[in-house]
Amino acid sequence: MIPAQFDYLTPKTLDEAVALLAQHPDDAKILAGGHSLIPAMKLRLATPQILIDIGRIQNLAYINDSGGQIRIGAMTTHYQIESSAKLKDICPLLPETAGQIGDVQVRNKGTIGGSLAHADPAADWPAAIIALRAEMVAVSPKGERVIKADDFFVDMLTTTLQPGEILREIRIAAPTGRFGQAYMKVAQPASGFAVTGVAVHLTRGGDGKCQAAGIGVTGVASKAYRATGVENALIGTALDAQSIAKAAAVVTDGVSINGDLYASEQYRHHLAVVYVRRAIEAAAARAK
Ligand SMILES: Cc1cc2nc3c(=O)[nH]c(=O)nc-3n(C[C@H](O)[C@H](O)[C@H](O)COP(=O)(O)OP(=O)(O)OC[C@H]3O[C@@H](n4cnc5c(N)ncnc54)[C@H](O)[C@@H]3O)c2cc1C
Repeated sequence: MIPAQFDYLTPKTLDEAVALLAQHPDDAKILAGGHSLIPAMKLRLATPQILIDIGRIQNLAYINDSGGQIRIGAMTTHYQIESSAKLKDICPLLPETAGQIGDVQVRNKGTIGGSLAHADPAADWPAAIIALRAEMVAVSPKGERVIKADDFFVDMLTTTLQPGEILREIRIAAPTGRFGQAYMKVAQPASGFAVTGVAVHLTRGGDGKCQAAGIGVTGVASKAYRATGVENALIGTALDAQSIAKAAAVVTDGVSINGDLYASEQYRHHLAVVYVRRAIEAAAARAK
């Protein structure tokens, strides 16, 4: 449980971190909260020769809300999001998701940027980020690149972030209108990771019917995904029990479901159907 030897660099600015990463494209890794990378290094699943710790850079941990946009710095911890009174008010899905990650130590050190960049298929953030149609802002020596949530997650532990890019910020359009949100998960009892996790953001029109829906699912497949079939089936319905159950039934259509020692494919499919239904019901009840 001792990592291989590595050098440890502590840039004071993001520009410095970007330059250091560019100097060591093949053998350096960014260190954020360390709650995924350090365990992987201890197990020798990752053996970077250089760690670039971005934890000492000022102004990478923030929650801002202006001009109809929520902006969250990549180094913002799960706990900072969980405890944000501002977010509880304007986008409660974010604190609700954060509060269900791991345990208090994990939430105190782990960061939203680290979790998204790591892209664990059972991580909680990807579901919420997809449901909210967030955008990720990455920086590199070439400048800034904005990546939509739907394009960000490529496969298990793989994102569209390119070598040399650092995730700087997550942007979310501040929800408006009669919206309701919910995050529900079945947690793996040992780690807390999602066996199945479902994030829902929906809005009702003036007639009370579902106007728009965003549904992100994690834990079920090799990467988090948008349940497009469920979203389409909800739009225009009264969000009553029957229409929600009918929409929920298609949550794994076209998805290659993971099976492992803890949960078979069949069980994960069952959990996904049940939890997407429950999360939609909760979000619909909150959309006043
Ligand atoms: C016991 C335990 C239980 C956990 N339970 C859960 C859980 O229930 N749900 C859940 O979602 N997660 C869980 N986690 C994971 C936790 O949320 C981690 O914090 C998270 O996955 C990684 O964030 P980090 O800041 O620690 O990143 P790090 O471990 O520092 O980095 C992770 C990876 O992302 C890269 N990286 C980090 N930041 C950036 C950046 N800004 N730009 C580019 N690349 C970057 C690193 O190079 C590394 O490859 C758990 C972890 C532990 C140890």
